[in-house]
Formats: sequence, structure tokens, C-alpha cells
Amino acid sequence: MDETLIRDVVTEVLGRLGRQPSGAPVAAAPKPAAPTPAASRPAAPSVAPARNGGRRFGVFEDADAAAEAAQQAYEQLAAQGVAGRRKVIEIVKELCYRNAREWGRIELEETKIGRLDHKIEKLEGQRGIPGVEFLQPCGMSGDHGITLEEYAPFGVIGAVTPSTHSIPTVACNIISMVAAGNAVVFNAHPGAYRCAVMAVRTFNEAIHRELGIENLACIIEPPTLESFAAMAQNPLVKILCVTGGPGVVAAAMKSGKRAVCAGPGNPPVLVDGTSCLDRAARDVVIGAAYDNNLLCIGEKEVFVLAEHFDAFMDALAKNGAHRLTPDQVERLTEAAFVFPEGGGAGGGHAVVNRDLVGSDPAVLAEKAGTRIPDGTQLLFAETPADHLFVVEEQMMPFLPVVRVASVEEGIAKAKVAERGYKHSSMIHSHDVAHMTAMAKALETTLFIKNGPCIAGLGNGGEGYANFSIATTTGEGIANPRTFTRVRRCVMVDKLRIF
Ligand code: NAD
Repeated sequence: MDETLIRDVVTEVLGRLGRQPSGAPVAAAPKPAAPTPAASRPAAPSVAPARNGGRRFGVFEDADAAAEAAQQAYEQLAAQGVAGRRKVIEIVKELCYRNAREWGRIELEETKIGRLDHKIEKLEGQRGIPGVEFLQPCGMSGDHGITLEEYAPFGVIGAVTPSTHSIPTVACNIISMVAAGNAVVFNAHPGAYRCAVMAVRTFNEAIHRELGIENLACIIEPPTLESFAAMAQNPLVKILCVTGGPGVVAAAMKSGKRAVCAGPGNPPVLVDGTSCLDRAARDVVIGAAYDNNLLCIGEKEVFVLAEHFDAFMDALAKNGAHRLTPDQVERLTEAAFVFPEGGGAGGGHAVVNRDLVGSDPAVLAEKAGTRIPDGTQLLFAETPADHLFVVEEQMMPFLPVVRVASVEEGIAKAKVAERGYKHSSMIHSHDVAHMTAMAKALETTLFIKNGPCIAGLGNGGEGYANFSIATTTGEGIANPRTFTRVRRCVMVDKLRIF
């Protein structure tokens, strides 16, 4: 029997007896009172009751206990070198792939938003997330010796994940962060945390079996605004990575820590008629219908040159979308937006009705007062450029299409609709001048030409994927380098070999 096995057996037995083994390396011990203000602490005991024979496998009620356990795991990972990181990544990818159907179903049942086929695809697609191979050191060599710049870990990262892709974001965050040698504590979305807790526990169980590390990815159960604050304030948490809308981005920016912010978007599409309209329509339907338009990169509004407008609308209908009449759009708009400050159109700032986010097209059609054929992917209609569906990030499968007189007008209106998020935009065109003009005007992180939005994340286009796209803070599509510190090691005058 090796030492690890003996230690595990002792921990297991003592765990059942409700005691900790002295010097147990993996189970996080209850901590003394944390420095966080009393008002923001839960009244419950600071650490969840022990489960799984005393092992937590990453699941904690208390953010400080989670950070401490993650710090221990970070040190254990460091001791296992790059091979240990590789193994963790292999485990996470394999579990996502093997459980894609089951976990997709579980996430859909909890969140009730989006589509099962795409939830499965997002989990299977974790295999394409870059790992340790992404971290190539930078060497310099000259008369004064040699210098190496390396991508080193931060330690523990505090991460916030969205409701729109809960397990996929948790998984790809773990892959990128662990590839860089870090551990992570998650505060998931309150409406999507149960599935994330289940996935994190499953990852840790497998990681523990293979590597003896119990809490490499920790998660707070249940997540609250208070647990986010405690996580962000914990001194062991070195940086934050938040994926979500404007609220969480603002909160992360105020935390006083460096934050990688994957913020909101409202991606516009321009169709200038110089490329195949049928292909453009097909691509727009694929992107806007994906997971019922939950993707932050998803096509949210389209601007089409007037002379090609009718043909493009016909092409959308031929490619699985259903056109609404102006009356139906009005009814749908009334159902899809609320005005919390004012209580009625024009009274306050419009907010998307969360009940309809990620709904099926049939549900939206019913709100619009109509029925649609089975298999309809998307609803669409002509709207003005200042329509709520154009200017708000609606995240539901209704696509507003705006008629414009020129490419210049289309670009200008697309820029307004994008709201300066600098997130994503698309063009369908064979005119490189139009492409260049739009790229320069909108300055989006992702700019996709002649493909659906998902081509920007390696699904039909070149490149790798990630569900955290750091638009607001500029790191771009997250990858292992995003979660590293660059450290320089200098040897003066020696070790150059010629
Ligand atoms: P959301 O903003 O409601 O929630 C995102 C996360 O932030 C959740 O975990 C939530 O609990 C937390 N949160 C919200 N306000 C907070 C606050 N004040 N303090 C601390 N935590 C807070 O977003 P959602 O509906 O879950 O996801 C959709 C949004 O996320 C859209 O705006 C979408 O564009 C964006 N998103 C961006 C990316 C990207 O990579 N850039 C990826 C996915 C989603």
C-alpha cells in the first residue's frame, strides 16, 4: 500500500467519525472567524456539514474556507508539475464529453433556458479548449547571456459564471486556469448553481482519484452576493474572472483586485448584398437560434441594404425562421420587456423580461399571438433601428431586421446598437472595403466575416473556443495565458551556448 492510499483510508475513517486526521493535506479545516464584516456573513455555520466521508470535493458554504482549500490544492498541483495539470485537463474534458447528454439535460432542467442539443454541443466542445501547450516561454539570448520569460500562475482565482452556460463556463475556466497552474473558487449564478456544484464535485472526485488533490476547483453552495464579496475580498484570491452582464462587471471592477471581465454584448450583423444572401441568411439563423440566442456572441440584430432587404427576408424564411407581422412584434415586445422604474413603456429604462430569456420560439410566438410550425428555429421581423429588440441584449430567439440605405448608414447604426461593448459583430459581404470599414468603426473583440457567430469560437471557423470572452478588460477570448503572470529569469553573461 502506498502512502497516499493509507492517508486516504485514515482520512475516510476519521471523516466518518467526524474528526480530521492531524496534518491531513486535502480536507479543508474549519477556519477561525473570517475578516469579512459580520453583516455580510451567513448566520449558518461557516463550513458545510461534512459529506462523502469527510471529503468536500470542492463544495463549500463558506467562501473563505473554499479559498483556503483551493490554496492548498494549488500548492499540491504545483508539486505535480505540468504532468499533473495535463491530467486534470484530460479528466475535465473527458467527463464533459462522456456526460454531455446527462449534464446538458440537468442544466436545462435547472435553468429552463436554451436548447438541449446546443447544451450538449457546448459540453462536447470542451475538448477544443487549449491546455498547457498554449504556454510557450519567450527566450532571449545575446552577448549578455540569456533571459527567459515564463507564464507563471497567480495561485487562487475567484470566478463568477453566468446562467446562460453554467457547466460549460465552469469547465472551460477550470481547463484554462489549471493549464496555467492555478486553482479556482467559483461563485455561480443563483439560478444555475446546482448543476455547476454537481459538475465541480464530479471533477474533484476524479481528480482526487488520479492525483490525490481534493479541492482544485471549489464552488460556493449556495452562491449569494455576500459570498461573492467574501470571495473577492479573501487575500488568497489573487485575481477575479467574471463572466456575465453589466452588474457583475461593475462589481468586479470595484473589488480592488485585478479582474478579467467577460462582459455583455449586443452583436450586430451587416448584410450588404455583395455575398450570397441565402448563405448569409442560413448563417444568421444558425447563430441567432443557437441555444435560443443565449450566446453573448450571438446575432442580436441585422442591418440590410434596402435593395437586398426583401430577398434577405425571404431567405431567412427559407432557412427555418418565421416572420412576424408588425402587430405580432408589438405584442411580443410588450411581453419581452419590463420597465421597473416607471411601470410602462417610456416610464423607465427597459429591462429584458427574464421569464422569456432563452425561451423556445414557440413560446415567443404564443406571446406574439400566433402559432408557428414545429421545427421553427427563429422568429424575425422588420423593425426600426431604435426598437427595443435592437438596442437591448434580448437573449431570445427573435431577430429584428433593419433596412438601411447605405453601407455607411448600416455601419453607423450597427455601432450604436453594439453600445460600445466592443464584443462581437458580423458582416456578410465580399467587399473588403466594407469589411475594413466595419472592423475599424466597431472595434469589436470578435469580427466574423461570412459565417455564423459560432465560427468565431472555432465552430466552423479557425481558432479555439472559450465561454469567457474578456471584452470589457481586453484580454480577448480566454486561454491559459489569460491566467498567468509573466516572470523574467535573467542569467548575466553566461549560458549562451555559442
Ligand atoms: P448576469 O449578469 O445576470 O449574471 C452573471 C453572473 O454574475 C452570475 O453568477 C450572477 O450571480 C453574478 N452577478 C450579477 N450581478 C452581480 C453583482 N452585482 N455582484 C456579484 N455578482 C453578480 O448574467 P447572466 O444572465 O447569467 O448571463 C448573461 C449575460 O452575461 C449577458 O449579458 C451576456 O452577454 C454575458 N455573457 C458574457 C460572456 C462573455 O464571454 N463575454 C459569456 C457569457 C455571458
